[in-house]
Amino acid sequence: MYGKISAPDRVSRNVNDIGVRDGARDDTAREVETVVVGAGQAGLSAAYHLRRTGAVPERDFVVLDHAPRPGGAWQFRWPSLTYGKVHGIHALPGMELTGADPGRPSSEVIGAYFDDYERAFGLRVHRPVDVRAVREGADGRLLVESSEGTYATRTLINATGTWDRPFWPRYPGQETFRGRQLHTAQYPGPEEFAGQRVIVVGGGSSGVQHLLEIAPLAAATTWVTRTEPVFRDGEFGQEQGRAAVALVEERVRRGLPPRSVVSVTGLALTDAVCKGLDDGVLDRLPMFDRITADGVAWDDGRRVEADVILWATGFRPVTDHLAPLRLREPGGGIRLEGTRAVRDPRIHLVGYGPSASTIGANRAGRAAVREIRRLLDREPELTS
Ligand SMILES: Cc1cc2nc3c(=O)[nH]c(=O)nc-3n(C[C@H](O)[C@H](O)[C@H](O)COP(=O)(O)OP(=O)(O)OC[C@H]3O[C@@H](n4cnc5c(N)ncnc54)[C@H](O)[C@@H]3O)c2cc1C
Repeated sequence: MYGKISAPDRVSRNVNDIGVRDGARDDTAREVETVVVGAGQAGLSAAYHLRRTGAVPERDFVVLDHAPRPGGAWQFRWPSLTYGKVHGIHALPGMELTGADPGRPSSEVIGAYFDDYERAFGLRVHRPVDVRAVREGADGRLLVESSEGTYATRTLINATGTWDRPFWPRYPGQETFRGRQLHTAQYPGPEEFAGQRVIVVGGGSSGVQHLLEIAPLAAATTWVTRTEPVFRDGEFGQEQGRAAVALVEERVRRGLPPRSVVSVTGLALTDAVCKGLDDGVLDRLPMFDRITADGVAWDDGRRVEADVILWATGFRPVTDHLAPLRLREPGGGIRLEGTRAVRDPRIHLVGYGPSASTIGANRAGRAAVREIRRLLDREPELTS
C-alpha cells in the first residue's frame, strides 16, 4: 500500500524555495509541476511517462481521480461486457495484461490490471478526489481546486474521459413517457429487461451490444438510429485506424466538438452482429419524431409501444472544470495542436477526441509529457 505524504508541509517549503511573486496566490495551495486529472488509460499513461522523465509522484506531480477504485471508466461498465467482448484494448505502456479470462467482466479485469499497474510504477493516485475547477493563479501557475484542497501547478494534463457526461438527446414528449428511460451509462445488463418492450436509440457499438444481449430475453426490441448504421466488413487495419483518427483530429484542430473515434470506424461485422442482422434484431428504423406516454411515434403515423427507452447515444468530453480558463472555441470544442490546448500551452488534453481510444490514450500520454517537459525545461526558474 502507498501512504499519502503530508503534502502541505512539502508545499510550503516549495513556495519559499521558489519565491513566488505577488499576485492572486492561494497560500494553502500545494505546489507541483504537473497535475494529472483522471486515472483512466490516458491519465495512467501520462503518469507513467512523467515517471520515466524522472518526475517523482507527490513531489513533482500528482494524479487525482474521483472514482472510488482503480480502472478509470471501466470499473462502471456493465457486468455482461466481458473482457472477451471488448475490441482491441491496448495494454498500458510498460506492462502487459496477460492471461485474463475472456469470460470475466472487463470492469474486474481492467480494474485489477490498473490497480497492479499503479502499484508497480508507484503512481500514488489520490482517490476519490474530485477536481471541481481549474483557474488562473499567480506566477503563471494554474490553481486546481479539488475535494482535497488546491494545487498550484505549472502544467496540467487533463485525462477525464467522457463516461461522466452521458449525452441524452431531447425529443418532444420525452417527459410524458410512462416507462423507464436510461442511458448506456446506467445499463445494468440484459436480465432486467426480460419480458419488456425495449427501444434502443443509437447507432454505435454500445447500442448494438445492448440489442444483441436484450433481444433474446425481451418481449420485443426496436432499434432506432439517427443515421444509417455503417457496418465494416473485414479487418480494421492500421490504415483504417489512421484514417478514422485523422477525421476526428481534423475536427479538434478546427475547435469543433470531437466525435468519438468509434463513430467514424463503423460497426464491426462480427459473427454475433451477422446473426443479429439475419434474425432482424438489427433491423434499424430512422429516428422517431416524438415520444408519447406509451412509446414513440413518427410523423408518417407509425408508432411503437415500449416499456423502456435505452439511450445508447454516447458521451461528451468531461471538461466543465476547465471552464474558468475559457479554452472553448466558438465552435464548442477545445482546439488542440497534438494534445496541447492552443489557447494555453500549459494544458494538455489526453484521451480527448482523436486520442479517445486505449491506443490513442497511450500515445497521447507520451506526447503530452514530452511537450510538458520541454515547457518546464524552458522555464526552469519556476521549477527548480
Ligand atoms: C462502453 C464502452 C466500451 C469501450 N470499449 C473500448 C474498446 O474495446 N477499446 C478501446 O480502445 N476503447 C474502448 N472504449 C473507449 C475507451 O473507454 C477509451 O478509449 C479509454 O478507456 C478511455 O480512457 P480515458 O483515460 O480517456 O478515460 P476514462 O477511463 O473515462 O478515465 C477518466 C478518469 O477521469 C476521472 N475523472 C473525470 N472527471 C474528473 C474530475 N473532475 N476530477 C477527478 N477525476 C475525474 C474518472 O473518475 C475516470 O477515472 C470504450 C468506451 C465505452 C463507453
